[in-house]
Amino acid sequence: MKQTVAEPDRSQTKESLFAYARKKGALAVGVADLAEIERIAPAGHRPSDLMPKVKSVISIGVGGQTQGAWGVTAKALTFFGSTESLAYKIAYGMAYYIENKFEVRSIYCPPDLDPELGARYPLQSLKLHAEIAGIGARSLAGDILLHPDYGYMYFGSVFTELELEPDKPMAENPCPAPSCVSMYESTGRTPCMKFCPAQCLDGEIDEDGNQTAMDYDMAKCAEMTQQYEVVPQIIAAAIAADNPKDRDDALFGGSNKALWYKMSVGSGGLLAQCFECMRVCPVATRSELADPIRRAKARRESSAGET
Ligand code: SF4
Ligand code: SF4
Repeated sequence: MKQTVAEPDRSQTKESLFAYARKKGALAVGVADLAEIERIAPAGHRPSDLMPKVKSVISIGVGGQTQGAWGVTAKALTFFGSTESLAYKIAYGMAYYIENKFEVRSIYCPPDLDPELGARYPLQSLKLHAEIAGIGARSLAGDILLHPDYGYMYFGSVFTELELEPDKPMAENPCPAPSCVSMYESTGRTPCMKFCPAQCLDGEIDEDGNQTAMDYDMAKCAEMTQQYEVVPQIIAAAIAADNPKDRDDALFGGSNKALWYKMSVGSGGLLAQCFECMRVCPVATRSELADPIRRAKARRESSAGET
């Protein structure tokens, strides 16, 4: 007799997926409204463009920096940008978990660049998935997503043919924080705008303390944070050098040597990293559960309250 798989209970299924993600280290998990993503994302970058029968998009958020990282020099901070790998790992595992437990097709959404369009176009916007799933809201710092409890997170996504009840986007945006509104009122700028080394952030806040405009010069920020073309540039400079000294400088100058080192050790912070807008952001650095020390304190207080 042919065996059939029982139709899973949608809320129990969702709870079991959330429990899986949290057990593996996720701080926040949500299901995005697929129709909303399909409406907003540009053609070619919608979930159904990758997985035609997709029914649900699950977004997973993991913690950003340790508390200690925010106090190091800019030079050291450039090495700390590799935390997204945990989000990808959990998403990868969850796709296997769903297929294994519910026998429904699932994929880990590739977080990578569109091979037909090059280094500046992701296949999908993991940020859009997280925003629609209600685990982050767009900030004045170039639309970096912030969470009122966890601050700054990294995101991964899972696409599945499993039908899940979608969550809602956050009703309130934690950005701008009250202290940022005060600073804006007195100086016309927020901390992220003031301390961005590339001066690529601008925006407006209304009298109720809400964002009304956000301006982000992505090209300027990219010079600090997304030097995807740096390897071919170094090679091109070495080929074009017309004497051995210039060739040596192109290949073995200080910052280029650091790049070869990062590549040889497989550092996640391979390219330039800049977290200065987040270093000065009260939501990213001082939210109640923003770092392991704050989360440990919250756990300790919660267990003391239970005894
Ligand atoms: S990452 Fe750096 S350059 Fe980009 S917006 Fe933030 S502070 Fe500015
Ligand atoms: S510092 Fe943070 S909370 Fe303040 S305006 Fe900038 S992104 Fe928003």
